[in-house]
Amino acid sequence: AEAAGGGDKEAVRAYFNSTGFERWRKIYGSATEGVNRVQLDIREGHAQTVAAALSMLRDSPLDLAGATVCDAGCGTGSLSIPLAAEGADVLASDISAAMVSEAQRQAQLAMASQPSKSPFRMPRFEVRDLESLDGRYDVVVCLDVLIHYPREEAQAMIRHLASLADKRLLISFAPRTLYFDFLKRVGELFPGPSKATRAYLHAERDIEEALRDAGWRVNKRGFISTQFYFAKLFEAIPAGSSS
Ligand code: SAM
Repeated sequence: AEAAGGGDKEAVRAYFNSTGFERWRKIYGSATEGVNRVQLDIREGHAQTVAAALSMLRDSPLDLAGATVCDAGCGTGSLSIPLAAEGADVLASDISAAMVSEAQRQAQLAMASQPSKSPFRMPRFEVRDLESLDGRYDVVVCLDVLIHYPREEAQAMIRHLASLADKRLLISFAPRTLYFDFLKRVGELFPGPSKATRAYLHAERDIEEALRDAGWRVNKRGFISTQFYFAKLFEAIPAGSSS
């Protein structure tokens, strides 16, 4: 087996600074020209994950205005920007410089179109990988990033993210079930030409195990599925706290 992170991480960084950036910027954007049916479906699924994460946070006892949030692997800012619009103090970081500058551009557009009394706080944008994040935050979110990491590296990342969070940790991942395992194997037999990086699905119990090792437990669960997009969303809290 390869050393932790190693080659895979460099491949992921390179991908999200080039073809992956173009592909995901299109999927996460709002234009419809040149976006195919599968990409539109993934856009819809991802938007549902972002909406579910936002409502988990809004339904929590936390006051989002002024809460410190670390959006780990922020992509184009799909979650960071609505959180910033609620007055959260957001650190938006990503391994890809291209993603971070697109997120920053979108945040500037969003800020310019806010009503005058909006509590919008411009997020802090940083190019860095999850592993090098430090500090403490009320909330740590990490949506749709674990798909790039094999089981043990994903578990290590979760333990690390939990060590940065005080109150809430939100994680979404593509679930590994027998059915999806099967589909993935079929996919590996017939890889499409654009398969630039490997996709790793995760078993719920592996994610829960990593959370438990870190002293956290799952408080709420969501499952989002469209035709081509599947995600489990966990809201975790410190094991000792009540909600
Ligand atoms: N979280 C965002 C969202 O849901 O809109 C983006 C999801 S996108 C599928 C995955 C993102 O994770 C990409 O922007 C990629 O650059 C980033 N990423 C992958 N590995 C990372 C790592 N080790 N550290 C930080 N970001 C990473």
